Amino acid sequence: MKENKLPKILLIYTGGTIGMVRDEVSGGLRPFDFDNILANLPEARSIHCTLDSYAFDHLLDSSNISPANWVEIASVVRDRYEAYDGFVVLHGTDTMAYTTSALSFMLSGLSKPVIFTGSQLPIGHLRTDAKENLITSIELASLTGEDGQPVVREVCLYFQHELYRGNRCTKINAEQFSAFASPNYPPLAHSGVHLTVDKDLLLPRSYASFSLDTHLETEILMLHIFPGIRAEMVHYLLDYPDLRGVILLTFGSGNAPDSAEFLAAIERVIARDIPVVNITQCIKGAVHQGDYQVSESLLRAGVISGRDMTKEAALAKMMHLLGHHYGVDEVRHYMQKSLRGEVSE
Ligand code: ASP
Repeated sequence: MKENKLPKILLIYTGGTIGMVRDEVSGGLRPFDFDNILANLPEARSIHCTLDSYAFDHLLDSSNISPANWVEIASVVRDRYEAYDGFVVLHGTDTMAYTTSALSFMLSGLSKPVIFTGSQLPIGHLRTDAKENLITSIELASLTGEDGQPVVREVCLYFQHELYRGNRCTKINAEQFSAFASPNYPPLAHSGVHLTVDKDLLLPRSYASFSLDTHLETEILMLHIFPGIRAEMVHYLLDYPDLRGVILLTFGSGNAPDSAEFLAAIERVIARDIPVVNITQCIKGAVHQGDYQVSESLLRAGVISGRDMTKEAALAKMMHLLGHHYGVDEVRHYMQKSLRGEVSE
């Protein structure tokens, strides 16, 4: 970034509540155009940056987001990477943590911020949380250090006064403005009277050059287990012929039923060289296979520990790793290793 030049920020609008209006006929919220957002944010003109925008042709409720849309968002960043100093992505909250996780793996060698935000109430609503979320995201994307370089150089999610690492957070609340949490990694920045960034928590500067990797394997099953889950059903699901990977959402520190029928289904899928990764259903904490007899069986069967990753990060990471046709041993290796700060080593 050149000295004395205003940072150039690109606002990418994908949809979400932030820009929605109420449909007069159905009464439900539906996506609306980008001008509506800017019309409701005259404050944007006072932010110390130059702001441009890019809006998706089809604005999405994020429940309809798919990996193809992740590629679309990441491609907008890639195509304009040199022209801008930072990116703010407006996205629905429902699946935002999946998108931030996916983009964290797809974009490598980032030396600029990519900050996702949205809101629980539309920007035109009297009590909206959109304005603070959007204004502070733009400020964070514009932040430069003494060297004139961006302070944040990773994919993040900003919501309700906290900046989170994108692949460490999860949506926890459908009602309150504090919709997200980062249970296993502290927030990277707080917005109060001052905007305070904890530089020690940020990813270190990457010396690799920036690139976009769009290889994603999507034939993956996320299986949330529960007391009484029928082993026959598990067999049936895992017998899906094109299956390439499984995320098993387990109890506590990685426990699952150890009945012979349930284990047989897991063993059978692993015998087909399909990796199975163990992620806890608990919001905080990590998988420790072997702490209990019931998780020892999973360990013996060859299930891979996902440690303290969120389910969103584990899914995106598996899509990314299998997109490169890695085998079970490579998936096992990389699942334990931090690629973008998504797991504690
Ligand atoms: N359903 C909306 C979405 O995810 C919710 C939101 O934006 O808060 O697009």
